[in-house]
Amino acid sequence: MSDFVRTVEGRTIFLVPQSSLTQKVPPKTPAFFNPAAKLNRDLSVLAYRAYLPFLSRKTLADSFTGIGARALRIAVEVPEVEHIYGNDINSIAIETAKKAAKINSVDNKCHFSINDVCKFLLNGDSEGERFGMVDLDPFGTPAKHIDCVLRAVLDGGLVSITATDTAVLCGVYQEVCMRRYYGRPLNNSYGNETAIRLLLSLIALTASRLELSIKPLFVHATMHYLRVYASIFVSSKEANNVYNNIGYITHCFQCGHRFKGEEYGGAKCGLCGSTTQTGGQLWTGPFHDREFVKKMRGYEADKQCKKVLDAAAEEASDIPYYFRADEISAKLKTNPYSVQKIIEKLKSTGFVASRTALNPAAFKTDAMMNQISDVLKK
Ligand SMILES: [Zn+2]
Repeated sequence: MSDFVRTVEGRTIFLVPQSSLTQKVPPKTPAFFNPAAKLNRDLSVLAYRAYLPFLSRKTLADSFTGIGARALRIAVEVPEVEHIYGNDINSIAIETAKKAAKINSVDNKCHFSINDVCKFLLNGDSEGERFGMVDLDPFGTPAKHIDCVLRAVLDGGLVSITATDTAVLCGVYQEVCMRRYYGRPLNNSYGNETAIRLLLSLIALTASRLELSIKPLFVHATMHYLRVYASIFVSSKEANNVYNNIGYITHCFQCGHRFKGEEYGGAKCGLCGSTTQTGGQLWTGPFHDREFVKKMRGYEADKQCKKVLDAAAEEASDIPYYFRADEISAKLKTNPYSVQKIIEKLKSTGFVASRTALNPAAFKTDAMMNQISDVLKK
């Protein structure tokens, strides 16, 4: 264990492989730890805190716990959580997590196991019951584990799911995306939003097959991963309505026109007449819940978290795409407009406009490409 060192994140002490702090890409052996995922863990502390009052069983399953980073932070920083179950197939990682739990004096509420992830999830907690909250943060795609996650969570519980196969979801490997997420990605300027909506669509459709429904609460993304939080409810009636929130996004690579549609493919661009491309099927409903995000914002957090949450709190997340400010200025051949300026101008003309948590250099609006140009030229 000599190559493990102490490090502090938030108010929690971790034992991590020395190499994970010094190498650019953290190695998988002897155990995996990614210091760059701090924002991911910071936001999950806030989200679980905000969700806990709604839960009948205040338990969390951390499906790919590694050295216990998320599990330990929740145990220390969200004391209302009664029991935390962390699982990994790497026994060295689990031994390390157990030691760190003792150091943080949370070993009474942290339960670590070495098992296949689906077996772990379906075993339930120490009483064989489903978990109040289930986190899934795998290497690569979460697609193969979605069923097990949904079967492991309580009625009214929370799931948090990360995808790191961003190249697939953002449109570099279309066939792989089709087979993993049953939808076509768009490799364009808002590809990470399409990506999140493809992930949400897979979760929603899998849930409906299990007579469950989902309600997305909050999503965010960085260069390397996408992450979604959603409530899960048992209701075959609600499951029947899943297609109300599933649709397509049509994009014109010629002029940048984009719109939400009911159908796949074949449409000519309404602005320039070019052949368009369609992304989806994907989730077209809102993906932030204003009340929930407001609650997350109410807790103490660092600047980076606040920035994401401030944008999410105002985001018009029922519009399933965004525009980048530099796209617009390139089109108008002008100096770059600030996002804030564009939003003000659009709003004063009567359009819906907001920032987006998915890209600080972008905005959302119900105005079309030509309308945005007209408003800014005025
Ligand atoms: Zn066009």
